[in-house]
Amino acid sequence: MDMKEYIEQAERDLLHTYNRYQIVLDRGEGVYLYDIEGKKYLDFCAGIAVFALGYHNEEYNNALKDQIDKVIHTSNYYYNVPAIEAARRIKKASGMDRVFFTNSGAEANEGAIKAARKYAFLKDGTTDHEIIAMNNSFHGRTMGALAVTGNAHYREAFEPLIGNIRFADFNDYDSVLAQVTEKTCAIMLEPVQGEGGLYPAAEDFLKKIRGLCDERDILLIFDEVQCGMGRTGYMYAWQKYGVKPDIMTTAKALGCGVPIGAFLMTERVAQHSLEAGDHGTTYGGNPLACAAAEKVLDLFEKGHIIEHVREVAPYLEQRLEELKDRYPEITERRGTGLMQGLVFDRPVRDIIASAMDKGLILINAGANIIRFVPPLIITKENVDEMISVLEQVIPDENRKF
Ligand SMILES: *Cc1c(COP(=O)(O)O)cnc(C)c1O
Repeated sequence: MDMKEYIEQAERDLLHTYNRYQIVLDRGEGVYLYDIEGKKYLDFCAGIAVFALGYHNEEYNNALKDQIDKVIHTSNYYYNVPAIEAARRIKKASGMDRVFFTNSGAEANEGAIKAARKYAFLKDGTTDHEIIAMNNSFHGRTMGALAVTGNAHYREAFEPLIGNIRFADFNDYDSVLAQVTEKTCAIMLEPVQGEGGLYPAAEDFLKKIRGLCDERDILLIFDEVQCGMGRTGYMYAWQKYGVKPDIMTTAKALGCGVPIGAFLMTERVAQHSLEAGDHGTTYGGNPLACAAAEKVLDLFEKGHIIEHVREVAPYLEQRLEELKDRYPEITERRGTGLMQGLVFDRPVRDIIASAMDKGLILINAGANIIRFVPPLIITKENVDEMISVLEQVIPDENRKF
């Protein structure tokens, strides 16, 4: 079948929950993807901030193949070595003390919410505790994660969601303070908002919230599903800010394509929240997914991925700033590390579609923002290649020079 026929079949069979771009992807090599007709694309999406190490990484692929030949799944009633090793490595990378492996980011956030509620329940025996989340946030599509997602468009049709969630404005400490009550058990936020439009937290904002949480025994939950795993030039974004959460969630790049997420917590929270029987998952922490995470964390260390991000990210930022200066329709560049956004004064879907025609894969974050979340192994030459395609596809009647 050719690409058009596959797409027609997909549109008959798959539930139409995405307006997909009209290509069928087939294989990847480094920072390039190929569609089933052999066309090559430079990938600045990385499966939405997932494929940090690039495609067809031999050592990663071999680790998976080896594990497939041993055992893929055992259930959580028994121990398995990949989970034990992945736990050791992720503790080291994250600075947290205890980990629960999940299958996705949304599930990791569900677990974080449960842990926070249980912590508060054990303190006072009541169950009507509140969580403060941020406007413009994104935490996933399941009912709990959706309840703390500050975007009416995602939530509206599915209400009632879990209750007792209050929303405050990101980077506005007073608006957070205004939502605190006797019943507040947790404050939850992304250190860098991703889907919401690439907004990094202000350091001062996070520090003040940490102080508030310490003072009132409120748990601070960081959703690092997108901004974690090296994207900011730190393994986890909290390390960049020097503000440590009590509970942290991660996913996306953790498995580099194999579905795995995790919620992690400090020993103090672990000792006073979820106990045997309180939470579970059939697949979460299975040997195949954990072999992927274990190898990813190993390759981050061996490949000096963080150092590489710190070297290439300022160059990406500089080239995006130059674009912004030249095109009046670009109103802002935002973001940090290899998590950047260009804000346009109009929808960007056409620009993204034209870029795809020219062999460049980009994604948006909201209608007017192009998001840049490439594999972390991109080089400055790849950045130049991306910029030269963008220059061809941004309408240039208004270009300044
Ligand atoms: C993608 C994302 C999620 C949801 O992760 P899934 O694996 O799609 O469930 C949650 N939080 C943030 C910040 C994300 O970017």
